[in-house]
Amino acid sequence: MNSHPIASDAASVPASAPVSEATSDAAPAAVRGAGAEGDHRRLGRALGLFDTDPLIGSGLPYWLPDGAAIRHTLEEFVRDRERRAGYRHVYSPVLGKRELYEISGHWQHYRDDMFPPMDLGAEQVVLRPSLCPHHALIYRSRPRSHRELPLRIAELGGMYRSELSGVLGGLTRVRAIQLNDAHVFCTPEQAADEAVAALELIGEAHRALGIRPVRYRLSLPGEGGKYVADPALWERATALLTEVLSRSGVPFEAVAGEAAFYGPKIDVQIADAAGRESTLSTVQIDFHQPERFGLQYIGPDGAKHRPVMVHRSVIGSVERVVAHLIELYGGAFPAWLAPTQLVLLPLTEGERARAEQLRERCLDLGLRAEVAGPERGSLGARIREARLVPYQAVLGPREAADGLLALRLRDGRRLEPLPAGEALARIRALVGACAQELWDEPGESRGGSSG
Ligand SMILES: [Zn+2]
Repeated sequence: MNSHPIASDAASVPASAPVSEATSDAAPAAVRGAGAEGDHRRLGRALGLFDTDPLIGSGLPYWLPDGAAIRHTLEEFVRDRERRAGYRHVYSPVLGKRELYEISGHWQHYRDDMFPPMDLGAEQVVLRPSLCPHHALIYRSRPRSHRELPLRIAELGGMYRSELSGVLGGLTRVRAIQLNDAHVFCTPEQAADEAVAALELIGEAHRALGIRPVRYRLSLPGEGGKYVADPALWERATALLTEVLSRSGVPFEAVAGEAAFYGPKIDVQIADAAGRESTLSTVQIDFHQPERFGLQYIGPDGAKHRPVMVHRSVIGSVERVVAHLIELYGGAFPAWLAPTQLVLLPLTEGERARAEQLRERCLDLGLRAEVAGPERGSLGARIREARLVPYQAVLGPREAADGLLALRLRDGRRLEPLPAGEALARIRALVGACAQELWDEPGESRGGSSG
Protein backbone atom coordinates (compact mmCIF):
# COMPACT_ATOMS: atom_id res chain seq x y z
CA MET A 1 0.00 0.00 0.00
CA ASN A 2 1.67 3.10 -1.12
CA SER A 3 -0.95 5.65 -0.31
CA HIS A 4 -0.28 7.06 3.08
CA PRO A 5 -2.64 9.93 3.43
CA ILE A 6 -1.38 11.98 6.18
CA ALA A 7 -3.95 12.76 8.72
CA SER A 8 -2.11 14.98 11.04
CA ASP A 9 1.22 15.68 12.46
CA ALA A 10 1.27 12.11 13.16
CA ALA A 11 1.32 11.67 9.79
CA SER A 12 4.75 11.63 10.52
CA VAL A 13 4.42 7.98 10.03
CA PRO A 14 4.18 7.06 6.39
CA ALA A 15 5.56 3.80 7.58
CA SER A 16 4.44 1.89 4.61
CA ALA A 17 6.09 4.17 2.11
CA PRO A 18 7.67 2.12 -0.61
CA VAL A 19 11.42 2.13 -0.88
CA SER A 20 12.25 3.90 -4.08
CA GLU A 21 15.67 4.39 -5.57
CA ALA A 22 15.29 8.06 -4.96
CA THR A 23 14.65 7.72 -1.26
CA SER A 24 17.45 5.20 -0.84
CA ASP A 25 19.86 7.59 -2.42
CA ALA A 26 18.88 10.24 0.06
CA ALA A 27 20.35 8.22 2.90
CA PRO A 28 23.90 8.85 4.00
CA ALA A 29 26.30 6.09 3.01
CA ALA A 30 26.99 5.08 6.60
CA VAL A 31 23.31 4.52 7.25
CA ARG A 32 22.74 2.86 3.91
CA GLY A 33 25.55 0.43 4.51
CA ALA A 34 24.25 -0.66 7.88
CA GLY A 35 21.62 -2.90 6.30
CA ALA A 36 20.12 -5.60 8.45
CA GLU A 37 22.86 -5.13 11.04
CA GLY A 38 21.17 -1.97 12.17
CA ASP A 39 17.64 -3.34 12.10
CA HIS A 40 15.88 -1.95 15.14
CA ARG A 41 13.69 -5.05 15.44
CA ARG A 42 16.63 -7.40 15.89
CA LEU A 43 18.45 -4.97 18.20
CA GLY A 44 15.31 -4.13 20.15
CA ARG A 45 14.72 -7.77 20.93
CA ALA A 46 18.40 -8.50 21.66
CA LEU A 47 18.59 -5.54 24.03
CA GLY A 48 15.28 -6.37 25.71
CA LEU A 49 13.69 -3.03 24.84
CA PHE A 50 10.34 -4.09 23.36
CA ASP A 51 8.58 -7.08 21.91
CA THR A 52 5.33 -8.22 20.37
CA ASP A 53 2.97 -11.12 20.86
CA PRO A 54 0.63 -12.61 18.26
CA LEU A 55 -2.13 -12.56 20.87
CA ILE A 56 -1.83 -8.81 21.25
CA GLY A 57 -1.53 -8.46 17.52
CA SER A 58 0.37 -7.02 14.63
CA GLY A 59 1.69 -3.52 14.97
CA LEU A 60 1.01 -3.45 18.72
CA PRO A 61 4.38 -3.70 20.45
CA TYR A 62 4.82 -3.57 24.20
CA TRP A 63 7.72 -1.93 25.98
CA LEU A 64 9.99 -3.88 28.32
CA PRO A 65 11.55 -2.15 31.36
CA ASP A 66 14.74 -1.03 29.57
CA GLY A 67 12.76 0.26 26.59
CA ALA A 68 10.30 1.95 28.92
CA ALA A 69 13.22 3.69 30.68
CA ILE A 70 14.39 5.14 27.35
CA ARG A 71 10.88 6.14 26.42
CA HIS A 72 10.23 7.79 29.77
CA THR A 73 13.48 9.75 29.46
CA LEU A 74 12.60 10.92 25.96
CA GLU A 75 9.11 11.93 27.01
CA GLU A 76 10.41 13.96 29.93
CA PHE A 77 13.11 15.47 27.72
CA VAL A 78 10.61 16.72 25.18
CA ARG A 79 8.13 17.92 27.81
CA ASP A 80 10.90 19.87 29.48
CA ARG A 81 11.92 21.52 26.19
CA GLU A 82 8.28 22.31 25.46
CA ARG A 83 7.70 23.85 28.88
CA ARG A 84 10.71 26.11 28.31
CA ALA A 85 9.25 27.08 24.93
CA GLY A 86 5.98 28.16 26.47
CA TYR A 87 3.81 25.08 25.94
CA ARG A 88 1.30 23.83 28.49
CA HIS A 89 0.54 20.11 28.61
CA VAL A 90 -2.86 18.47 28.58
CA TYR A 91 -4.26 14.94 28.52
CA SER A 92 -7.20 14.05 26.33
CA PRO A 93 -8.99 10.75 25.69
CA VAL A 94 -8.01 8.42 22.88
CA LEU A 95 -11.66 8.01 21.91
CA GLY A 96 -14.14 10.45 20.45
CA LYS A 97 -17.57 10.37 18.90
CA ARG A 98 -17.76 9.73 15.20
CA GLU A 99 -19.36 13.13 14.87
CA LEU A 100 -16.15 14.79 16.08
CA TYR A 101 -14.26 13.35 13.12
CA GLU A 102 -17.02 14.30 10.75
CA ILE A 103 -16.48 17.89 11.84
CA SER A 104 -12.69 17.67 11.61
CA GLY A 105 -12.92 16.07 8.19
CA HIS A 106 -11.06 12.89 9.15
CA TRP A 107 -14.21 10.83 8.55
CA GLN A 108 -14.48 12.08 4.97
CA HIS A 109 -10.79 12.21 4.09
CA TYR A 110 -9.00 9.74 6.30
CA ARG A 111 -11.49 6.99 7.12
CA ASP A 112 -9.54 4.21 5.39
CA ASP A 113 -6.81 4.60 7.98
CA MET A 114 -9.14 4.71 10.97
CA PHE A 115 -10.35 1.81 13.07
CA PRO A 116 -14.01 0.98 12.52
CA PRO A 117 -16.38 2.77 14.87
CA MET A 118 -17.62 1.02 18.01
CA ASP A 119 -21.31 1.00 18.80
CA LEU A 120 -21.96 2.29 22.27
CA GLY A 121 -25.67 2.43 22.91
CA ALA A 122 -27.09 4.85 20.40
CA GLU A 123 -23.68 6.41 19.72
CA GLN A 124 -20.63 5.49 17.75
CA VAL A 125 -17.17 6.16 19.10
CA VAL A 126 -13.87 5.79 17.30
CA LEU A 127 -10.23 5.49 18.29
CA ARG A 128 -8.76 8.81 17.32
CA PRO A 129 -6.56 9.06 14.23
CA SER A 130 -5.02 12.32 15.48
CA LEU A 131 -5.05 14.64 18.46
CA CYS A 132 -6.00 17.83 16.64
CA PRO A 133 -9.78 17.62 17.11
CA HIS A 134 -9.49 17.16 20.88
CA HIS A 135 -7.15 20.13 21.14
CA ALA A 136 -9.48 22.26 19.02
CA LEU A 137 -12.24 21.46 21.53
CA ILE A 138 -9.97 22.35 24.45
CA TYR A 139 -9.35 25.70 22.79
CA ARG A 140 -13.07 26.15 22.20
CA SER A 141 -14.01 25.23 25.77
CA ARG A 142 -13.94 28.88 26.87
CA PRO A 143 -13.93 32.33 25.33
CA ARG A 144 -10.45 33.36 24.19
CA SER A 145 -8.90 36.78 24.04
CA HIS A 146 -6.03 37.87 21.77
CA ARG A 147 -4.09 38.36 25.00
CA GLU A 148 -3.98 34.58 25.49
CA LEU A 149 -2.45 34.00 22.07
CA PRO A 150 -0.29 32.27 21.06
CA LEU A 151 -1.86 29.47 23.14
CA ARG A 152 0.42 26.45 22.94
CA ILE A 153 -1.20 23.15 23.92
CA ALA A 154 0.95 20.02 23.98
CA GLU A 155 0.24 16.38 24.63
CA LEU A 156 2.20 13.20 24.27
CA GLY A 157 -0.82 11.09 23.48
CA GLY A 158 -2.11 7.95 21.85
CA MET A 159 -3.62 7.74 18.42
CA TYR A 160 -4.51 4.80 16.24
CA ARG A 161 -4.47 3.77 12.64
CA SER A 162 -5.79 0.62 11.07
CA GLU A 163 -2.51 -0.13 9.32
CA LEU A 164 -3.47 -3.33 7.46
CA SER A 165 0.12 -4.21 6.79
CA GLY A 166 1.22 -3.68 10.38
CA VAL A 167 4.23 -5.90 10.85
CA LEU A 168 4.79 -7.98 13.89
CA GLY A 169 8.03 -7.18 15.63
CA GLY A 170 8.80 -3.59 14.80
CA LEU A 171 8.24 -0.10 16.09
CA THR A 172 7.93 1.61 12.71
CA ARG A 173 4.68 0.16 11.39
CA VAL A 174 2.38 0.32 14.35
CA ARG A 175 -1.34 0.62 14.88
CA ALA A 176 -1.07 2.31 18.27
CA ILE A 177 1.05 5.46 18.12
CA GLN A 178 2.22 7.71 20.94
CA LEU A 179 2.70 11.08 19.35
CA ASN A 180 4.63 14.05 20.67
CA ASP A 181 2.08 16.54 19.46
CA ALA A 182 1.14 20.16 20.00
CA HIS A 183 -1.11 22.79 18.56
CA VAL A 184 -0.41 26.48 18.71
CA PHE A 185 -3.52 28.62 18.42
CA CYS A 186 -2.48 32.07 17.28
CA THR A 187 -3.39 35.07 15.19
CA PRO A 188 -2.60 34.88 11.46
CA GLU A 189 0.21 37.41 12.05
CA GLN A 190 1.83 35.16 14.66
CA ALA A 191 1.71 31.96 12.61
CA ALA A 192 5.04 32.27 10.79
CA ASP A 193 6.95 33.17 13.98
CA GLU A 194 5.41 30.21 15.78
CA ALA A 195 6.31 27.86 12.95
CA VAL A 196 9.90 29.19 12.86
CA ALA A 197 10.15 28.69 16.64
CA ALA A 198 8.82 25.14 16.24
CA LEU A 199 11.49 24.37 13.63
CA GLU A 200 14.13 25.72 16.01
CA LEU A 201 12.81 23.50 18.79
CA ILE A 202 13.00 20.53 16.41
CA GLY A 203 16.60 21.35 15.50
CA GLU A 204 17.59 21.70 19.14
CA ALA A 205 15.99 18.35 20.05
CA HIS A 206 17.62 16.60 17.11
CA ARG A 207 21.04 17.91 18.15
CA ALA A 208 20.58 16.64 21.70
CA LEU A 209 19.51 13.25 20.38
CA GLY A 210 22.26 13.05 17.77
CA ILE A 211 19.68 12.80 14.98
CA ARG A 212 20.73 14.10 11.57
CA PRO A 213 17.81 14.67 9.21
CA VAL A 214 18.36 13.68 5.58
CA ARG A 215 16.21 16.52 4.25
CA TYR A 216 13.46 19.02 4.85
CA ARG A 217 10.40 18.56 2.71
CA LEU A 218 7.64 20.99 1.89
CA SER A 219 4.77 18.55 1.49
CA LEU A 220 2.10 19.73 -0.91
CA PRO A 221 -1.18 18.19 -2.04
CA GLY A 222 -1.31 15.84 -5.01
CA GLU A 223 -3.97 14.48 -7.30
CA GLY A 224 -7.14 12.91 -6.04
CA GLY A 225 -9.92 13.74 -3.68
CA LYS A 226 -8.27 13.17 -0.36
CA TYR A 227 -7.51 16.85 0.23
CA VAL A 228 -9.99 19.47 1.32
CA ALA A 229 -10.96 21.69 -1.58
CA ASP A 230 -10.14 25.30 -0.86
CA PRO A 231 -7.45 26.65 -3.18
CA ALA A 232 -7.10 29.97 -1.36
CA LEU A 233 -6.43 28.20 1.90
CA TRP A 234 -3.72 25.99 0.36
CA GLU A 235 -2.02 28.95 -1.27
CA ARG A 236 -1.97 30.97 1.91
CA ALA A 237 -0.60 28.13 4.04
CA THR A 238 1.98 27.16 1.40
CA ALA A 239 3.23 30.75 1.12
CA LEU A 240 3.62 30.95 4.90
CA LEU A 241 5.49 27.64 5.16
CA THR A 242 7.80 28.66 2.32
CA GLU A 243 8.55 31.86 4.21
CA VAL A 244 9.20 29.84 7.37
CA LEU A 245 11.66 27.55 5.57
CA SER A 246 13.55 30.42 4.00
CA ARG A 247 13.73 32.31 7.29
CA SER A 248 15.06 29.15 8.94
CA GLY A 249 17.73 28.90 6.29
CA VAL A 250 17.34 25.18 5.69
CA PRO A 251 17.48 23.75 2.18
CA PHE A 252 14.24 21.99 1.26
CA GLU A 253 12.42 20.26 -1.55
CA ALA A 254 8.76 20.68 -2.41
CA VAL A 255 7.05 17.33 -2.95
CA ALA A 256 3.50 16.88 -4.22
CA GLY A 257 1.20 14.27 -2.73
CA GLU A 258 2.57 14.34 0.84
CA ALA A 259 0.40 17.03 2.45
CA ALA A 260 -2.09 16.43 5.24
CA PHE A 261 -5.65 16.40 3.97
CA TYR A 262 -6.25 19.81 5.54
CA GLY A 263 -3.04 21.59 4.60
CA PRO A 264 0.62 21.58 3.56
CA LYS A 265 3.40 20.56 5.95
CA ILE A 266 7.08 20.94 6.59
CA ASP A 267 8.37 17.41 7.12
CA VAL A 268 11.77 16.68 8.61
CA GLN A 269 12.92 13.43 7.03
CA ILE A 270 15.17 10.77 8.51
CA ALA A 271 16.45 7.52 6.98
CA ASP A 272 16.55 4.07 8.58
CA ALA A 273 19.34 1.52 8.45
CA ALA A 274 18.17 0.27 5.07
CA GLY A 275 17.97 3.80 3.68
CA ARG A 276 14.18 4.06 3.80
CA GLU A 277 13.08 7.60 4.39
CA SER A 278 10.35 8.60 6.79
CA THR A 279 9.03 11.70 8.45
CA LEU A 280 10.08 12.27 12.05
CA SER A 281 9.16 15.84 12.85
CA THR A 282 6.65 18.13 11.26
CA VAL A 283 5.28 21.68 11.26
CA GLN A 284 1.97 22.63 9.68
CA ILE A 285 -0.01 25.81 9.35
CA ASP A 286 -3.72 25.08 9.26
CA PHE A 287 -6.56 27.43 8.35
CA HIS A 288 -9.00 24.59 7.80
CA GLN A 289 -9.71 23.08 11.22
CA PRO A 290 -10.20 26.46 12.98
CA GLU A 291 -12.88 27.06 10.35
CA ARG A 292 -14.48 23.63 10.80
CA PHE A 293 -14.58 23.98 14.57
CA GLY A 294 -15.66 27.62 14.47
CA LEU A 295 -12.71 28.70 16.65
CA GLN A 296 -12.62 32.34 17.69
CA TYR A 297 -10.79 34.91 19.73
CA ILE A 298 -11.73 38.43 20.66
CA GLY A 299 -9.31 40.84 19.03
CA PRO A 300 -8.06 44.20 20.33
CA ASP A 301 -10.94 45.69 18.33
CA GLY A 302 -13.47 43.81 20.45
CA ALA A 303 -14.61 41.79 17.44
CA LYS A 304 -14.43 38.03 16.88
CA HIS A 305 -11.57 36.67 14.77
CA ARG A 306 -10.51 33.27 13.51
CA PRO A 307 -7.23 31.89 14.96
CA VAL A 308 -4.76 29.77 13.00
CA MET A 309 -3.63 26.34 14.19
CA VAL A 310 0.06 25.48 13.94
CA HIS A 311 0.41 21.70 14.31
CA ARG A 312 3.88 20.50 15.17
CA SER A 313 5.70 17.45 16.40
CA VAL A 314 9.25 17.77 17.68
CA ILE A 315 10.33 14.13 17.96
CA GLY A 316 7.43 12.51 16.12
CA SER A 317 6.04 9.33 17.60
CA VAL A 318 7.98 7.68 20.41
CA GLU A 319 7.86 4.45 18.42
CA ARG A 320 9.54 5.90 15.37
CA VAL A 321 12.10 7.97 17.23
CA VAL A 322 13.14 5.07 19.47
CA ALA A 323 13.43 2.77 16.43
CA HIS A 324 15.69 5.38 14.86
CA LEU A 325 17.80 5.87 18.01
CA ILE A 326 18.25 2.11 18.40
CA GLU A 327 19.69 1.91 14.89
CA LEU A 328 21.68 5.10 15.27
CA TYR A 329 23.47 3.99 18.42
CA GLY A 330 23.35 0.21 18.03
CA GLY A 331 22.35 0.04 21.70
CA ALA A 332 25.24 2.19 22.96
CA PHE A 333 23.01 5.14 23.87
CA PRO A 334 24.32 8.45 25.20
CA ALA A 335 24.40 8.27 28.99
CA TRP A 336 21.29 10.39 29.44
CA LEU A 337 19.22 7.93 27.37
CA ALA A 338 20.83 4.67 28.48
CA PRO A 339 18.45 2.31 30.33
CA THR A 340 21.20 1.65 32.88
CA GLN A 341 23.65 4.50 33.27
CA LEU A 342 26.00 3.08 35.86
CA VAL A 343 26.70 -0.50 36.81
CA LEU A 344 28.27 -1.11 40.20
CA LEU A 345 30.44 -4.20 40.33
CA PRO A 346 31.37 -5.35 43.85
CA LEU A 347 34.47 -7.53 43.63
CA THR A 348 33.22 -9.81 46.41
CA GLU A 349 30.25 -10.07 48.74
CA GLY A 350 32.29 -7.89 51.11
CA GLU A 351 31.65 -4.82 48.95
CA ARG A 352 27.98 -5.46 48.26
CA ALA A 353 26.67 -3.22 51.03
CA ARG A 354 28.73 -0.34 49.71
CA ALA A 355 27.43 -1.00 46.17
CA GLU A 356 23.83 -0.96 47.36
CA GLN A 357 24.47 2.27 49.23
CA LEU A 358 25.85 3.87 46.07
CA ARG A 359 22.90 2.61 44.06
CA GLU A 360 20.59 4.44 46.45
CA ARG A 361 22.63 7.61 46.10
CA CYS A 362 22.18 7.29 42.35
CA LEU A 363 18.42 7.00 42.81
CA ASP A 364 18.48 10.19 44.86
CA LEU A 365 20.35 11.90 42.02
CA GLY A 366 17.89 10.63 39.42
CA LEU A 367 20.46 8.25 37.92
CA ARG A 368 19.65 4.70 36.80
CA ALA A 369 22.18 2.38 38.43
CA GLU A 370 22.35 -1.36 38.93
CA VAL A 371 24.41 -3.64 41.12
CA ALA A 372 25.87 -6.68 39.35
CA GLY A 373 27.29 -8.83 42.13
CA PRO A 374 29.46 -11.96 42.14
CA GLU A 375 26.38 -14.19 41.78
CA ARG A 376 26.30 -13.04 38.17
CA GLY A 377 29.68 -14.55 37.39
CA SER A 378 33.30 -13.53 37.21
CA LEU A 379 34.23 -9.87 37.12
CA GLY A 380 35.27 -10.23 33.46
CA ALA A 381 31.92 -11.78 32.57
CA ARG A 382 30.02 -9.03 34.40
CA ILE A 383 32.02 -6.31 32.66
CA ARG A 384 31.31 -7.91 29.27
CA GLU A 385 27.64 -8.20 30.11
CA ALA A 386 27.55 -4.49 30.94
CA ARG A 387 29.54 -3.42 27.87
CA LEU A 388 26.76 -1.09 26.64
CA VAL A 389 26.42 0.62 30.03
CA PRO A 390 28.15 4.04 29.81
CA TYR A 391 29.75 3.89 33.27
CA GLN A 392 31.07 0.90 35.15
CA ALA A 393 32.52 1.00 38.63
CA VAL A 394 34.44 -1.91 40.09
CA LEU A 395 34.34 -1.80 43.88
CA GLY A 396 37.26 -3.48 45.55
CA PRO A 397 38.15 -3.30 49.25
CA ARG A 398 40.13 -0.11 48.70
CA GLU A 399 37.34 1.78 46.93
CA ALA A 400 34.81 0.59 49.50
CA ALA A 401 36.99 1.64 52.44
CA ASP A 402 38.06 5.02 51.00
CA GLY A 403 34.70 6.05 49.53
CA LEU A 404 36.19 6.12 46.03
CA LEU A 405 34.76 5.30 42.65
CA ALA A 406 37.07 4.08 39.88
CA LEU A 407 35.09 4.53 36.70
CA ARG A 408 35.52 2.64 33.48
CA LEU A 409 33.82 4.27 30.53
CA ARG A 410 32.09 2.28 27.82
CA ASP A 411 34.65 3.49 25.28
CA GLY A 412 37.45 1.78 27.18
CA ARG A 413 38.79 4.74 29.16
CA ARG A 414 39.61 4.11 32.81
CA LEU A 415 39.59 7.11 35.07
CA GLU A 416 41.62 7.84 38.19
CA PRO A 417 39.58 6.99 41.30
CA LEU A 418 37.48 9.92 42.45
CA PRO A 419 35.58 10.52 45.68
CA ALA A 420 32.26 8.78 45.00
CA GLY A 421 30.21 11.94 45.54
CA GLU A 422 32.26 13.84 42.99
CA ALA A 423 32.15 11.04 40.43
CA LEU A 424 28.36 10.75 40.71
CA ALA A 425 27.89 14.52 40.58
CA ARG A 426 29.89 14.70 37.37
CA ILE A 427 27.88 11.88 35.80
CA ARG A 428 24.73 13.65 36.92
CA ALA A 429 25.86 16.88 35.28
CA LEU A 430 26.62 15.16 31.97
CA VAL A 431 23.27 13.35 32.04
CA GLY A 432 21.45 16.55 32.94
CA ALA A 433 23.06 18.33 29.99
CA CYS A 434 22.02 15.53 27.59
CA ALA A 435 25.72 15.25 26.71
CA GLN A 436 26.85 13.04 23.85
CA GLU A 437 30.28 12.70 25.50
CA LEU A 438 30.75 10.24 28.35
CA TRP A 439 33.28 12.38 30.17
CA ASP A 440 34.40 15.98 30.00
CA GLU A 441 38.13 15.37 30.13
CA PRO A 442 39.11 14.02 26.72
CA GLY A 443 42.74 13.47 27.79
CA GLU A 444 41.83 11.54 30.95
CA SER A 445 44.69 9.36 32.08
CA ARG A 446 44.33 5.67 31.67
CA GLY A 447 45.01 2.85 34.05
CA GLY A 448 43.39 4.20 37.20
CA SER A 449 42.10 1.43 39.34
CA SER A 450 42.95 -2.05 38.36
CA GLY A 451 39.67 -3.10 39.91
ZN1 LIG B 1 -2.61 18.31 14.70
